[in-house]
Amino acid sequence: VTVAVVGGGQLGLMLGLAGARLGLRFRFLDPAADAPAARAGELLVGAYDDAELLRRLCDGADAVTFEFENLPAGAAPPQLLPPAGALAVAQDRLHEKELFRRLGIGTAPYAAVDTRAELDDAVAEIGLPAVLKTRRFGYDGKGQAVLRAAAAVDAAWDELGGVPLLLEGLVPFERELSVLAVRGRDGATAFWPLTENVHRAGILRQSVAPAAPELQGEAEELAAAVLAELEYVGVLAVELFQRDGRLLANELAPRVHNSGHWTIDGAATSQFENHLRAILGLPLGSTAAVAPSAMVNLVGEVPPLRRLLEVEGARVHVYGKAPRPGRKVGHVTLVEPDAERLRRLLELAGEPTAGAATIVA
Ligand code: AMP
Repeated sequence: VTVAVVGGGQLGLMLGLAGARLGLRFRFLDPAADAPAARAGELLVGAYDDAELLRRLCDGADAVTFEFENLPAGAAPPQLLPPAGALAVAQDRLHEKELFRRLGIGTAPYAAVDTRAELDDAVAEIGLPAVLKTRRFGYDGKGQAVLRAAAAVDAAWDELGGVPLLLEGLVPFERELSVLAVRGRDGATAFWPLTENVHRAGILRQSVAPAAPELQGEAEELAAAVLAELEYVGVLAVELFQRDGRLLANELAPRVHNSGHWTIDGAATSQFENHLRAILGLPLGSTAAVAPSAMVNLVGEVPPLRRLLEVEGARVHVYGKAPRPGRKVGHVTLVEPDAERLRRLLELAGEPTAGAATIVA
């Protein structure tokens, strides 16, 4: 059984590693000859919208999926799962917000901005502080500017103007959470326990799960509505803000997600395995947590492996990527974390350690 994957980054690598155990074979398409997923299958090197390469990628495959969200939806192979419609919605922040609104899911107040005059109107309507975001092709905090005072509006427009934008009210959230969900070809659904996430400079740094059990029902309900609306197959992540004890949806990821990496070590079935089961029409596995888990991202460069492995119980995942500031190069999961081991891990990862203990406790 062969699975074709558009994209060959760390998400592709981890899909391949999960699938190898089930006897699956993988073929990836990525522009980089040294893409991480090359360690887990055959790699075709070329552009994501190269029709001939896409044909070769999909030739004889039993399922076709993607781990790279900016695949042009128009170039999507017909067999693609999750479906191209879900990908198209997730590629545009305005369409995402409109989907949430249509389904009665709360969001930050927002307005589409295409011109300088519309930016002024949107600031007047939504107020400050607010976040100006490009509607398309943003990731890890790129393509965003926080507006705290009217004086910042010109600079934000100079930086981001000229492409379709979205202005959002800045949510004074109590914390950030994400819900990971999976839907099979037969419509069966399952949800992992909520994950609490800490971002710094727009990049996910830390996740802890299970979190906020009192909000699990609300989170599952909103994720189920999105899955049904998009006739979704595969793993979906919805990033959430907790505000006044309720959930607001921030954005969708129509794929396996960094905030679900703890499921490899801390859940009965990982997000990667269940994604493969879903797109292949196989029975879904249990999404229960086997123990509390904390995940720390390695950003920029991998600390010495020996030092990471000295942290008792550390489950180390290294993606094999060249170091670069702001780049996710690996992650470490602690199952049944305690404050001391988490503090050591955060120190090695170069993360501030204040607050870590409170999350775990
Ligand atoms: P995003 O690319 O939309 O996931 O944004 C990256 C991170 O920026 C989020 O995880 C939040 O930490 C922060 N952020 C984005 N939008 C907002 C908002 N409207 N209010 C508060 N924080 C935000």
